[in-house]
Formats: sequence, C-alpha cells, structure tokens
Amino acid sequence: MPNFLGYCCSLCGTEYAADEVSYTCPKDGGNLDVTLDYDAIRTKYQPEDLLSRNDPSLWRYAPLLPVNAPEGDSTPLHIVGGTPVFRLRALARKYGLQNLWLKDESRNPTASFKDRASSIVVARAREIGAEIVVTASTGNAGAALAGMSAAVEQKAVIFAPKSAPPAKVAQLLIFGAQVILVDGTYDDAFDLTIRCANEFGWYCRNTGYNPFTAEGKKTAAFEIWEWWRDAHAAWHDERDEGFDHSPLTIFVPVGDGNIISGIHKGFKDLIQLGWLSRMPRLIGVQAEGSAAISNAFNAGVETIQPVSARTIADSISVDLPRDGVRAVRAAKETGGTYINVTDEEILSAVAALGKTGVFAEPAGAAAYAGMVKAVARRIVKSEDPVLVLNTGSGLKDIRAALNAVNPPPVIEPTLKAVKNLLR
Ligand SMILES: *Cc1c(COP(=O)(O)O)cnc(C)c1O
Ligand SMILES: [Zn+2]
Repeated sequence: MPNFLGYCCSLCGTEYAADEVSYTCPKDGGNLDVTLDYDAIRTKYQPEDLLSRNDPSLWRYAPLLPVNAPEGDSTPLHIVGGTPVFRLRALARKYGLQNLWLKDESRNPTASFKDRASSIVVARAREIGAEIVVTASTGNAGAALAGMSAAVEQKAVIFAPKSAPPAKVAQLLIFGAQVILVDGTYDDAFDLTIRCANEFGWYCRNTGYNPFTAEGKKTAAFEIWEWWRDAHAAWHDERDEGFDHSPLTIFVPVGDGNIISGIHKGFKDLIQLGWLSRMPRLIGVQAEGSAAISNAFNAGVETIQPVSARTIADSISVDLPRDGVRAVRAAKETGGTYINVTDEEILSAVAALGKTGVFAEPAGAAAYAGMVKAVARRIVKSEDPVLVLNTGSGLKDIRAALNAVNPPPVIEPTLKAVKNLLR
C-alpha cells in the first residue's frame, strides 16, 4: 500500500492517481496497470529481505503489492500461494526435454490459481471499506472470492452461468456467498455484474476489469523467479561455467488473459527493480473452441474479435476476453507465442498429469497439452527449460475427469471373478 502510486492505461498510457479511478480507463475502457513506487522499493529492499521471510505465502512479497498484508489470525486468506513445483522426469523423457517442471496451483485454499487474485481484491476491499464484493465467474473466481471473503467475514455476491460445474457451485454455496445463477453465458454474467456494481455501489472484482486481480496473479511470477534462482543455480553446478542456455519457457492456460498478463506484470516489476535480468518466455494456451486471444496474436493484431466459445475447459471458455490486449503482449514481448489445443488433447493431458500424481481440471491441463504440441512443432527444443502451470484441481469437475479415463470393471465379490478379470 505505501508503494502504490496509481494506474497507467495499457491502451492510451494515461496515468491516474490511486483515488481517481477504480476499474478500467474512463477514456477508452483499457485495462489499467497498477504503478508502484519502484525507486522507493529499490532503496528500501534487497531481494534477500523478502526471500528470507518465514511466511511461504504470497504475502512474503507484500512490499511489491498495492495492498498491505492482512493482519490477524491465520486464515485461508493468509496462506494463498507458496505452491509447489514438481519435476516431471518421466514426461520429460517422453518428450525429449532435459528439464520439465509443473507448478501446481490446485493446492491453493479453494483449489485454483484464482485465490491469488481474490485474496488481493479482498484485502483491497477491506482497505477501502467496501461492504459487498461482487464478481462474475465461470466458477473458480467466484469460489476464490467466496472463500477469501468467508475467511475474513467479508460479504460477497457471485454471478455464475447456470452451466457452471456443480462442484464449483457447491463451493460458492458452502462458503456462504450469495450465489445467483444466470441463464446465459459467462459474458452475460460479466455485464450484469458491472451493472449491479454501479447500481448498488458494490465493489466489483471482475477479471480483466478490476486492476487488482492482475496484481494478485503476478505473485506467481515472483514465486517462479524465487524458485528459478535456486533451481537454476543447482542446474548450473552440473555444467560448464559460462554455459548459456535459453530462457525459462512457461506455459499458461488462457481464458480472459488475466493470468498471463498478471504473470508478465510480475516479471516486469522484477526487471524494473533490477532483480531479474532475463525475461522468461510466456506461451499462452487456449482451447481451440475459445481462442479469441490466440486468433489476434496469430493475426498480428491487438484487436480482440469475440468468438462463440465452446470447450470442455469451462474455466477458459470465454466469448470476449477482458484482458486480451495485455495477454497478446505478454507473449509478443517475451518471445513467446499462442497455441490452441482441442478438447481431446486437453482430456489426454488430464490423464497424463494424473499419472504424475497431479489431478488437474481441464483448463489447468490445457497448459500441459500446449507443451506437448509445442514440442511437436519444435517451438520448444530439448535444452529449453520448461515450466507448465496447472491452474486448478480436477476435483472441481469430475464429470470432465471421467471422460479422460475408462470406467472400471464391476465384478462379483469372489476370488474367481478377480482371477477371470486379471487373466
Ligand atoms: C481462470 C482460469 C484460467 C484462465 O485465466 P484467465 O485469467 O481467464 O486467462 C485458467 N485455468 C483455471 C483453472 C482458471 O480458473
Ligand atoms: Zn486509456
């Protein structure tokens, strides 16, 4: 909070003071980037000051955030982030990669990446004294807002399409949010949420609308930076001095485009501070049936044309992405690209990750499916270090998961039946 200066519009570059605007640019509707006082941060902190903290959660990076770390007893809001990175050795061998890792965001309190955004927005809501926070959601953003709100007795209202997976709706209800299902798409819910926020004075968390969501999502970049410093040092020890490898390549599933632009922002913050010298390469992965951002990237433009989204991966099913321009730039400015994957490829990815002990929801597994395709197309080479992001838990959508595997046999409860089966 003390280092929060204001906003800068990603389209027209207009700068706004912290109390001047709340959501998007009043001139052109562009997404606002939060501006921090980098000089003050640089003067006051060294990386070691943050990295030596005992707190493994995203709040360890509080000096780089536009909100204060919440005080009080430990709650789910206090423990967001700090997610593990696993090395996928067998899968690396299968695809001829020397180094393949997965960062597992399903281990956040409400089991998705969205907790990063919702925790920061709830902290902001407390600071500005908002009575009610509202969001539109395909499920995870709502579950995260409901969970983070419940943790600190904040009131929340969630609008979701009535087609949201039952497990996600259950989460919303159990966390005690006011849940309103909309007979329409996520995009319908999105527009309705903004109208309600304006009408009733609620604080709106909508992804790609509220500038604080990307500030939460950028903390994944901070964690990757911190992890890579160690992984990279260990890796270098095994090799010749002066060995210059390609940058870390990160695969990110993309719907509204807010995760990939948030991660990009996190790395840009670190570069501004002089704490990171080399930008990782960001590769966005979209479902073939929901590829508005990918379409723009591949056409070499920033104008996002809406699509009629259709994919099994509900969390990345978006007609009109709300953070499309910054998402296109995240790939363009880092030497990355966009890759589309089919629902079939996504389901294969769910099954493949399952065999490493990671249960991903379809949207989360999409990043892995994109990696498989990138190897086939030689977008990543054997020596490129690769990190895949799993953004959500498979328990959130078991109907999709059951499509990724064969049903088990049912037998008589006799030894003979088992022997027959095993034969
Ligand atoms: C929201 C979400 C995404 C996509 O994030 P965007 O910011 O919409 O691009 C990917 N995976 C999961 C599990 C999500 O919940
Ligand atoms: Zn603007």
